[in-house]
Amino acid sequence: MTKRALITGITGQDGAYLSKLLIGKGYSVFGFISRRVNQNFSNLDYLGITNKIEYVFGDMTDLASINHAIRVSRPNEIYNLAAMSFVGLSWQEPIYTSQVNSLGVLNLLESMKDITPTSKLYQASTSEMFGNSVEKNGTQNENTQMIPRSPYGFSKLFAHNAVRNYRESFGIFACSGILFNHESPIRGLEFVTRKITDGVGQIISGKKKFIELGNLEVRRDWGFAGDYVEAMWLMLQEKKPDDYVVATGKNWSIKELLSVAFKYAEIKDWEKYIKVNPLFLRPAELVTLKGDSSKAKRVLGWSPKTSFDDLIKLMVNEDIMRHSIK
Ligand code: NDP
Ligand code: GDP
Repeated sequence: MTKRALITGITGQDGAYLSKLLIGKGYSVFGFISRRVNQNFSNLDYLGITNKIEYVFGDMTDLASINHAIRVSRPNEIYNLAAMSFVGLSWQEPIYTSQVNSLGVLNLLESMKDITPTSKLYQASTSEMFGNSVEKNGTQNENTQMIPRSPYGFSKLFAHNAVRNYRESFGIFACSGILFNHESPIRGLEFVTRKITDGVGQIISGKKKFIELGNLEVRRDWGFAGDYVEAMWLMLQEKKPDDYVVATGKNWSIKELLSVAFKYAEIKDWEKYIKVNPLFLRPAELVTLKGDSSKAKRVLGWSPKTSFDDLIKLMVNEDIMRHSIK
């Protein structure tokens, strides 16, 4: 029988890659989308799947619309990717961020409990929940203390705890993937990787002279979104629901990212093209994220396939091409 999946946040980066994966596996995919004046399907268009999805309108802050989407789609699997996902903006919109990322997840759990308790749920948790906590070896795993340092981080930690609680209290098959940063040529332009690769594309095409950034010393564990959505699916194929860290186990500073990105544009002296602007500094920062995904490897058989260099090369090449034809 054809499996049915309901994906919230389907128009985002991960929603597009996950839809592509599930369509390839023969799933019927339903996309929960907010009603916008100009709905943006560019990520789904990029992967050539916009017309292969059935859309249900709604919003994570509206329980009635979630109930309706669940009744219409009758999903075997629900992937909750919808979120206010940009950490930087979460200090300016902390209340709406929590309404979507915390109460929105509670809406979904309540809806599942009442309407479809046998559906399986994937919740998009995040390494931001750790804050600056690290194990002695400098990594974060499923048991590392979570002390978030942004409204985004604490809103996601609420959801993470709610998911575990509904699993334990009501027996709902609900997993949280604690994903570390993952990127692609369709990553939002506000995130630092894409801001840099898009900036390189603009510099090469003569549209821009420099890129303005914030803190260049922080370190992140960056992987490829296409690899990470596979881990989401694998979690829901297990016999028991659980939480998993998904990461590469390596990290790089923004300076190292810059040097690799400019290298693929054949520019050696990247420093000439960077200006630090305090506008892009954050009220509180996470110094270093490096995930230990040995549990995902052991239980799910998952490990990342795409190297950091290949990921950045792919993004730089796409952005150079986009700007050369505009
Ligand atoms: P994006 O920002 O690309 O996509 C977010 C999606 O959520 C969009 O489709 C957006 O739709 C939708 N959305 C936002 N608010 C609402 C709402 N109120 N109701 C319904 N839909 C809404 O995020 P990513 O694809 O990068 O990330 C997917 C998930 O994984 C997110 O939950 C994110 O927080 C989490 N995550 C991401 C990481 C990463 O590195 N990418 C790392 C760890 C976790 P619209 O544009 O129409 O508003
Ligand atoms: P995050 O890890 O989810 O916050 O992903 P981002 O890509 O937004 O940011 C990663 C890191 O890059 C953070 O520590 C930011 O402070 C840092 N950074 C430095 N300059 C910038 C910038 O101009 N924009 C963004 N988004 N991040 C920046």
